[in-house]
Amino acid sequence: MTLIPPPLRNDCFAMPQGAHWTPVVEALSLLRERLTPVTGIETVAVADAAWRILATPTHAARSHPPHANTAVDGYAFAQASIGKGAQTLRLVRGRAAAGVPHPAPVPPGYAIRVLTGANLPAGTDSVILQEDTTTDGQSIAFNGQLKPGANTRKAGEDMQAGTEILSAGRQLTPADLGTLTAAGVATIKVRHRLRVAILSTGDELRDAAEATTAANIFDANRPMLRAVIARWGYDLVDLGRVSDSQSAVRTALDRGAAEADAILTSGGASAGDEDHVSAALTATGSMALWRVAMKPGRPLALGLWQGTPVFGLPGNPVAALICTLIFARPALAQLAGADWRDPQGFDLPAAFAKSKKAGRREYLRARIRDGQVENFASEGSGRVSGLSWATGLVELPDVAMTVSPGTPVRYIPYESFGL
Ligand code: AMP
Ligand code: MG
Repeated sequence: MTLIPPPLRNDCFAMPQGAHWTPVVEALSLLRERLTPVTGIETVAVADAAWRILATPTHAARSHPPHANTAVDGYAFAQASIGKGAQTLRLVRGRAAAGVPHPAPVPPGYAIRVLTGANLPAGTDSVILQEDTTTDGQSIAFNGQLKPGANTRKAGEDMQAGTEILSAGRQLTPADLGTLTAAGVATIKVRHRLRVAILSTGDELRDAAEATTAANIFDANRPMLRAVIARWGYDLVDLGRVSDSQSAVRTALDRGAAEADAILTSGGASAGDEDHVSAALTATGSMALWRVAMKPGRPLALGLWQGTPVFGLPGNPVAALICTLIFARPALAQLAGADWRDPQGFDLPAAFAKSKKAGRREYLRARIRDGQVENFASEGSGRVSGLSWATGLVELPDVAMTVSPGTPVRYIPYESFGL
């Protein structure tokens, strides 16, 4: 059965009364509080579940390892049957190998040949490394003083049957597929893939292969945002590009609402004459113009179009990408049923000087050279090439700050945003 989550509330993007410039952390906590998963649940094979989002807590179906076994090639015996100093133990006939256990118990004072991964035969609890023994084929000799359980793995030492191994909301990594499979889990419940629609707006825009005049610029946002959405593991609905017209924007949003779970638009999100995304969302009564205290920052237009959340990003490619990474990433994750995401940053010495006033958080295009953080020479937010020059962002705090060479600054690599 497919569970249909409840719809988002019409006022889910409303800002508290009187808010003027909202700090980034407040804007983020509003998204975190108000957005809920909109995706249903399906069962898939673990082997096919890389990057999917776990819908329920998942428990080990059996212990790993299921039985005590040997971690090395060597000889197993009962630790209590040896003393200190030089030891000689008779060998029992046969051996134990991975997948091929030895059928009979090993009597005290005897040892048995074991190969890595073999279950410890009954009557044994410790293993001496092959390299630490001498043998004539009948007996082995070695120096005693082994710890009980030496060179073995205990049953369930990695995972115990029935215990929770991964929690709901986790985006499954390749390692998780190994962990789940080792714990005997063959199928899991995951969220349907979030479908994300992308729309560019603006009379000036042309696609890469189209003819242009000096009045045109190329639509840089769509290829960039398409790649971001694909990288995050969502299904893409490309709504193309529309001119600055109410009806064109509405028609595109209609299609987005029908085919996707969330819509990212770029351009037309402020409150001007040609800001048709804001105008369309305003007409629904769900529109909130978020003036976030950050740079780069133009207002974000947030609202619901026929129940589907719309993130109206600024048109400027630098602002569009940074707003996508800072706001759309955690918001989409929340809608997709994934855990909240705070990008992991690292404090590293700056290679640049800069001073900023209090009141706005700033994101700089940055890269690491020789362990220091370099800042893109121009902070002009029209310079899309700076996004390529950079390998991440520097996040400067809302408060005033003077950075000199050597001052620690918070560097967030693109990888921390899932890119
Ligand atoms: P807007 O947010 O529509 O006022 O646009 C702000 C700036 O970004 C303007 O200079 C636009 O020409 C530019 N812009 C808007 N959309 C795009 C796009 N898809 N690709 C490149 N630049 C864009
Ligand atoms: Mg525009």
